Amino acid sequence: MVESRVLQESEKRGHEQVVFFHYPRVGLKAIVGIHNTVLGPALGGCRMRLYDDESQALEDVLRLSEGMTYKSSIAGLDLGGGKSCIIADRNLSGEARENLFRQFGHCLEHLHGRYITAEDMGTSVQDVMWMREVTQFAAGFSREKGGSGDPSPWTAKGVFHSIVAACERRYNSKDLKSRHVTVQGVGHVGLYLVGHLLEAGAKVTVCDSRPEALDETKAKYPVEVVELEKIYDVECDVYAPCAIGQTVNEATLPRLRCDIIAGAANNVLSGPDVYSIIDEKNILYCPDFVINSGGVISVGGELIEGGWKESWVAEKVKNIYHTIHRILDESEKRKRFPEVVAIELAKERIREAEEQQGVLNP
Ligand code: NAD
Repeated sequence: MVESRVLQESEKRGHEQVVFFHYPRVGLKAIVGIHNTVLGPALGGCRMRLYDDESQALEDVLRLSEGMTYKSSIAGLDLGGGKSCIIADRNLSGEARENLFRQFGHCLEHLHGRYITAEDMGTSVQDVMWMREVTQFAAGFSREKGGSGDPSPWTAKGVFHSIVAACERRYNSKDLKSRHVTVQGVGHVGLYLVGHLLEAGAKVTVCDSRPEALDETKAKYPVEVVELEKIYDVECDVYAPCAIGQTVNEATLPRLRCDIIAGAANNVLSGPDVYSIIDEKNILYCPDFVINSGGVISVGGELIEGGWKESWVAEKVKNIYHTIHRILDESEKRKRFPEVVAIELAKERIREAEEQQGVLNP
């Protein structure tokens, strides 16, 4: 029964492999979703949380691993898409946590590098380090240890390049001096983004649900602060959501007074039903999974020959600017919404690689 559902779901989304691990001795229950490995090993983070039920965990893994395929493909990485989840309390600590992650590391060895994990919601760099003790198939560790370090500055840089590209299209100028950008959420990514925007001469308005994040931002930068809900009403050029998903929805869209939406948050749109509203409002939308790919580019940099190199990562992140132009060009040509076109282009790259390989991936 459950088995047939997994196969049905995999068929619907195009997954290559879904693996379940169960080691009760250390309390490990995990699902690994390998969506596509045509371009390379499937890279994607490991989430840890207590799901309401197993099907919710499975849905998360299948949906997110598919998304990773498109994100890595459009970012020009030779990597596929994968994701995993560990069904356990994210606050587990001490030896029990260490043992659980070491065991998960052993599990990844069974997959022979078809899936490479990294930090995600509920997991930490320390968890990655425990896995690294037993497997090389865990990425995203500290700079001191030869890893890629915090991905957030790279994510912010990619979003910044995208905002420049979007402004160039809308206003025929890359100059951000007369631009006003609202940034929702000044956490890891948002704060770096604010820095880049101000450096480029833009005016920046921010909001955050944590007063300490606002205090830190105000102490560092000359920004205007508005209350949480007010961010949707501010007249601006660019709305950059960098907090939570689905903030662009049927309720917020009538209020948004911007020309461009470009932010780091995953799943910015509530769903495809808002495409037409965005088009009607003549808002230029930069697909989230394209512009926030700086993080995966940086983590993926650990896997290149010779290891992580800042110049390699910077080059690829800079290229997000050209990718946004390409998507928007194609969006005009194909007369389809940018998010749809971005997925099409990601799939086309995979199809071309498949044709070049000549055979189906072994
Ligand atoms: P973060 O948790 O460090 O920052 C998010 C900030 O948003 C926090 O300061 C939080 O207080 C604030 N916030 C939460 N709810 C809010 C609300 N309703 N209104 C305003 N502010 C709110 O996370 P982050 O690492 O900066 O990531 C930001 C977003 O970008 C997330 O959606 C994340 O999934 C996505 N993302 C991050 C990376 C990365 O490299 N960190 C990569 C890709 C995507």
